[in-house]
Amino acid sequence: MRLIRTIKQMQDLTSKLHRQGRIIGFVPTMGALHEGHLSLMRAARKRCDAVVVSLFVNPTQFGPNEDYARYPRDARGDAVLCRREKVDLLFMPTAEAVYPEGHDTQIRVGRIGEVLEGALRPGHFSGVATVVAKLFQMIQPDVAFFGQKDYQQTVVIRQLVRDLNFPVKIVACPTVRENDGLAMSSRNRYLSMEERRAARILFKALQKGKALLQQGERDATTVQEEMTRLIRQEPMAKIDYVSVGHPETLEDVSRIEGPVILLLAVWIGKTRLIDNALVKL
Ligand code: AMP
Repeated sequence: MRLIRTIKQMQDLTSKLHRQGRIIGFVPTMGALHEGHLSLMRAARKRCDAVVVSLFVNPTQFGPNEDYARYPRDARGDAVLCRREKVDLLFMPTAEAVYPEGHDTQIRVGRIGEVLEGALRPGHFSGVATVVAKLFQMIQPDVAFFGQKDYQQTVVIRQLVRDLNFPVKIVACPTVRENDGLAMSSRNRYLSMEERRAARILFKALQKGKALLQQGERDATTVQEEMTRLIRQEPMAKIDYVSVGHPETLEDVSRIEGPVILLLAVWIGKTRLIDNALVKL
């Protein structure tokens, strides 16, 4: 595995790989790696000739009162894990290299970037879209791998790739969970033992929604209300949103007639967690 720190070096290496006819798979991450990230690397390893992982805590996707400064960082441990997964290139640019003084271009994703997560975290998806577009220019991947854990992000990225004609295939990989159902997340490290137990309520609520749909419930409001009611039974939980939406537009549905995406954002103490479940009927 090679550690790459400069953008120029990265661009030169991937240009060379392209000339050799290699298929480049790319996994963007913010580090503090866990099994969820590793599953993306394995998917890339399986499908591509060369695997590039980026490790970059992107300042522009954090709001001013969010956790950028205290976001978990463990570059050394992350490098060990990447090496074990047979990653070819580990790209770790500095924030100054990605956003040098005078950098003044942002990508604004339309409606899909402004609902749900986008509404509660203004500017978040603009930050995500901008850094992903920049990383695509630096790495020139053929295929990029994202986790379904961040469902809206995958929809935003697909929109970005379509609208800006990036020649990149987007693959969304299933959410990797702990034994009790909690979706793996770097932010789970923030949870105290008591909060960790309370955090199970997210998965339980998704299971509840899924069960209702499988039992034939077709009124989205009922599903949404039942999930909300369950989460409210957990005293440590505070809901940001519970949504029953269309899997592509994320728009609220009323009468359920096809697949739906159940999306949650819930605070457990001072930690904000998101999760989702795609229900195909
Ligand atoms: P992050 O480091 O949180 O920006 O995540 C990097 C990538 O890993 C994103 O595409 C995430 O959706 C994905 N990811 C994060 N957690 C999981 C998980 N539990 N299962 C699958 N993919 C995940």
